[in-house]
Amino acid sequence: MTAALNLGGVPTVGTPPTEQAQSLAHVLALVRARLAQTRPDVARVSGYGRTVVTERLGQLIDAGMIEEGETGSIPRGRAPRLLSFRPKAGVILAAELETNDITVGVTDLDGTILSSRQVPHTMTPDVEVSIATLDKALDAVLSDAGIARDRVWGMGLGVPFPVEYGSARAIATPGWNAWDGYNLREHFERRLGAPTWTDNDVNLMALGEARAGLARGIDDFAYVRVGRGVGGGIVSGGRLHRGAQGAAGAIGHIKVAETSAVICRCGSTGCLQTVASGGALLGIATQLAASGASPQLQQKLAQLGHVELEDLAAAARDGDRAANVALETSAQYLGTAIATLVNLHNPALVLLGGPVVGLSQAYLANVRAEVLRKALPLATRNLRIEISPLGDRTGLIGAAAMVVDELLSPQMLDSWVSLGTPRALIDRGARP
Ligand SMILES: [Zn+2]
Repeated sequence: MTAALNLGGVPTVGTPPTEQAQSLAHVLALVRARLAQTRPDVARVSGYGRTVVTERLGQLIDAGMIEEGETGSIPRGRAPRLLSFRPKAGVILAAELETNDITVGVTDLDGTILSSRQVPHTMTPDVEVSIATLDKALDAVLSDAGIARDRVWGMGLGVPFPVEYGSARAIATPGWNAWDGYNLREHFERRLGAPTWTDNDVNLMALGEARAGLARGIDDFAYVRVGRGVGGGIVSGGRLHRGAQGAAGAIGHIKVAETSAVICRCGSTGCLQTVASGGALLGIATQLAASGASPQLQQKLAQLGHVELEDLAAAARDGDRAANVALETSAQYLGTAIATLVNLHNPALVLLGGPVVGLSQAYLANVRAEVLRKALPLATRNLRIEISPLGDRTGLIGAAAMVVDELLSPQMLDSWVSLGTPRALIDRGARP
C-alpha cells in the first residue's frame, strides 16, 4: 500500500519534472495507496486546489488508471463517489535472465503475477542466443496468459551483471564482451513496442522483497543471494541504492579468505564468492568426494560420476563430518562479509536467498553467529537476519515494480498519459 509512494522509488534522470507532472503523479499515488479515496480527500491530503484536482483526476480517469465508482450511503446529503486505482489498466512483462535458466512473467500494475514460466537455458558469451530464447519465452508467457503483445505497457529485465541503470548498459565481466555492448533496451523496445528497463538481477530481488516480502515497510535492508555466485542488493532510506556505476552491493567480492589461492572472476583472490558460493561449494564437495575425506560423497561420486549440492546437503544431514565442516565454513565466510556490510550500511534486516542458504538447518544460525561476533554491537542490536520465504518469485516482482515505478514517475506519467498508454512513447519515438 505504501509502496506506491516511495518504497524503492526510482530517481528520474534528466531535468526536474514540471509542477503539473508532479501533481499528476502525486494524485495518482495518493489514490493508489488509498490515502485519498474521494475528490475532497484528494484536495485535503494533497493541498491542491479544486481545479487542479479535477484536471488531474480527469486525465487519470481518461487514461483508465483511476475509476470513480458508486458510494456507500451517508445519513444526510450526497456522499462523494469512491476513487480507486485500476491495476488491470495495463500489463507488465517481467523477466530474469540467469546463468542456468530464464524466468518470465506477466503482471498487472500492482505486481500481481498473472502467469509465469521458467525455461532452462545455459547463458554463454553469445548474447544473441540468450536474447532469442528470452524472446520466445516472453511470447509463450503472454500466450499462457491470453494477452496480446500490444497490451504490454512496459518490460523489466534482470541480468546477472551490474547494470549502468541510466543507459541500461550491462557491465559484463571479461570474456562476456558481447553482453557489454548489447543494447538490451533498444532490442525489447523495438520488439515489444513498450518502454523497457534493465537492472542487475539481485537488485530486482531486493526490490521485490521491499514490495512483497519480509522487507515490506523497512527502509534500510539488504538482500544477499547465494547461488552460483554471491550478490547483494541494498535498499537505503526506502530506495534501491545502485551506486554511481551500478556496482553497489557487490558483496561477492569482499575479501574474506586471506589464504585462498582460488582466482575469482574479477581477477582477485580471497573473494567471498570463491569460497562460499554454490559454485565454490560444488568444487569443495567434488574434492571431498575424490579425496575420500567424505565417505558418503565418495560413494555418490562412484555411483553417479559427479556430485551435486544436494548430495553435500544430504551428507551433512546424515552426520558426515567433512560435509558439515564445508557448509559451516561457507556460512561463516558469508557471515564475515555480511558483518562488513552491516557495519557500513546498518540495515534493520538482512534477507538471505538462493539455493545455498537452505542447504542445512544450521546454515542460518552459523551466519547469524558470525555476524554478531564480527559486526559492531550498535549495528547488530536490533538486526534481523532471515531466509526469504518468497524464493524465486522476488526477481519477477521486483522487475515489474521497477517498470511501474518508472511509468508512474512524474516525468514519465506526464509524458504518456495524454497519449493513452506508455506504448505511444515508443511508437512516436518520444520516450523521455
Ligand atoms: Zn572477486
